[in-house]
Amino acid sequence: MTGQPSAEDFGHEPMNIITNGKLRAVVCARCSVWDRGFNHVDWPCTSAIVLGLVARESS
Ligand SMILES: [Zn+2]
Repeated sequence: MTGQPSAEDFGHEPMNIITNGKLRAVVCARCSVWDRGFNHVDWPCTSAIVLGLVARESS
């Protein structure tokens, strides 16, 4: 699912990390930052869940 820009997502959207043509991880574009290396936060991040950006799977 490719997220469209929304006024309500505050920049929290999934970002694919691709290495050598293979999907390595899906992280939050907003929460993941470069700080002496790539400090990533797995998607969905806590904020995305709180904001209701992610459909919660029924357990
Ligand atoms: Zn986030």
